[in-house]
Amino acid sequence: MADLAEVVAAIAARGAEATDRGRVADYIPELAKVSAGHFGIAVVTAAGAEHVAGDADTPFSIQSVSKVFALVEALCRHGEGVWDRVGREPSGSAFNSIIQLELEQGRPRNPFINAGAIAVSDLIAASCEPGAAIGAILARVRALAGDDSIAVDAAVAWSEAVTGYRNAALANYMRSFGTIAGPVDATLSVYFQQCAIAMSCRQLARAGRFLAAGGVQDGVVIVSPERARRINALMLTCGHYDASGDFAFRVGLPAKSGVGGGILAIAPGRASIAVWSPGLSPQGNSLLGTAALEQLAQAMGWSVFNPD
Ligand code: GLN
Repeated sequence: MADLAEVVAAIAARGAEATDRGRVADYIPELAKVSAGHFGIAVVTAAGAEHVAGDADTPFSIQSVSKVFALVEALCRHGEGVWDRVGREPSGSAFNSIIQLELEQGRPRNPFINAGAIAVSDLIAASCEPGAAIGAILARVRALAGDDSIAVDAAVAWSEAVTGYRNAALANYMRSFGTIAGPVDATLSVYFQQCAIAMSCRQLARAGRFLAAGGVQDGVVIVSPERARRINALMLTCGHYDASGDFAFRVGLPAKSGVGGGILAIAPGRASIAVWSPGLSPQGNSLLGTAALEQLAQAMGWSVFNPD
């Protein structure tokens, strides 16, 4: 088998040199300021060994990768009741699409599209004191990463809040069906802030390690093995919006992307992997990040569809 440290270094070298890097998201003005030239990768094995290269310690906006941690928080607070509000099917639509909400009586297809994640934020807020929901999500992320320096980038959260008309439409529309129970503005504030959490690849890979290790991290049960398996299943089927099928085809790992250019991928039993390159595909997924994960899974034989 290939040497993991060498594979990671080779992928980072390729990522630094690549010329076709995709387009940096510009619909959130603050994100448009980030250079497309960055590339980072961090691999944390299930046992805790770390291999990093490139800009692995540079914080970036995790955006929709936060939807994994918010889902964990909501499941820990509400158990399987989460699925009364949100489905578990791939959408086949853009991350911010509204069309299925009308067809399906305001019930979002899954927790990883914007509508589903906004409903999850609302569920968390419902079980907290007013204003405490973002603190709960942040505390969860910090504990998983073992790093209390992780914070919300207030400029990114503000930038999204003042331009987030589509997300406001999704939230209001769901509120009319009762999918969201709390005040729309408060729910959106939680959602925008969780998306604006800034983390490096190293921090993100550390935070995802429990999903590679049956729900356990350093002897602490974060979620049951069954729940870890199910979250991985959702990441595989829904983690890349309308490109989830193509991602499974090319990479074969559960993974969640964000429009900041980060992707958290899980090789069950093996490793948690974070990659970051801000240039995106038309579907809003990191172009070089996806290519890097494809190379890593191929070189290490980590696709979940491998026979061993
Ligand atoms: N905060 C972003 C939005 O709601 C997240 C989208 C994403 O990362 N795909 O539009």
